[in-house]
Amino acid sequence: MNLRDKKLWVFDVDNTLIHDVEHPTPFDDALKLWNALIEKGYNVAILTNVGRLSSRQVYQAISKAGFKIPVEQVFTAGAAAAAYVHNRAPGARCFVIGEGGAQEDFIARGLDVTNNPPIDFVAVAADRGMTFQELNFATRMVKEGAQLICISGSKDYPGIYLGTEDTFIGERSIVAAIEHATGVDSVVVGKPLPEILIETVKVLGYKTSDSVMVGDNPKSDIAGGNAAGMTTILVKRDPNNIVAFESEDYDSTPTITVESLEELISQI
Ligand SMILES: [Mg+2]
Repeated sequence: MNLRDKKLWVFDVDNTLIHDVEHPTPFDDALKLWNALIEKGYNVAILTNVGRLSSRQVYQAISKAGFKIPVEQVFTAGAAAAAYVHNRAPGARCFVIGEGGAQEDFIARGLDVTNNPPIDFVAVAADRGMTFQELNFATRMVKEGAQLICISGSKDYPGIYLGTEDTFIGERSIVAAIEHATGVDSVVVGKPLPEILIETVKVLGYKTSDSVMVGDNPKSDIAGGNAAGMTTILVKRDPNNIVAFESEDYDSTPTITVESLEELISQI
């Protein structure tokens, strides 16, 4: 495997390019590799498991951090979930929880985002302003037959909300309450689901065999990249900042492991 043969480099965001979307300090090694890739003519894209922010909002955060990229090459779990719904039921009526970001991605995909029945899909991203009524309505709609989508699979995550630094309950934990109440299992749309990595690469006009997935999380970035048939690169970051995921049955052994992304510059 020669990295020079690869054409598309797909990057995770939190703890890979920047600390996290609410603390968008860039990692120096990531900026250096990013600029070297662009200079040498490789294409770059972003696939983040964040669902509470839209693709446009993530684009703004990483652009401000110094990573140059067109907005069309930034993909969130919310955008992936919207594509997942659109591919099965274009224009479906969707009740969406997700701090406004997921809603924006669903509307951008042409879906009917609504708070009134009938509802075809209930889609849930992390939402720190969610009310009991929203959770209860989501549960009732799933009981009445709506399909349940979990936008990514974080149990919890670090962040800042209304000025408070904390660890917050993630979408997977919120959806677990709905699953428990209804007996219905959700579909988790986000890394490591191979479908969304394959779709991202395809939308940009490449093959997964020509593409690289770079991230800090073996269970999401690496497992998903491997299952999609991509070359996978694990960058070792502070293990305390790796978001906890429900484990999947995919192989999470990276093709390459680096301490710093700068190590890759000599190989491209
Ligand atoms: Mg990450």
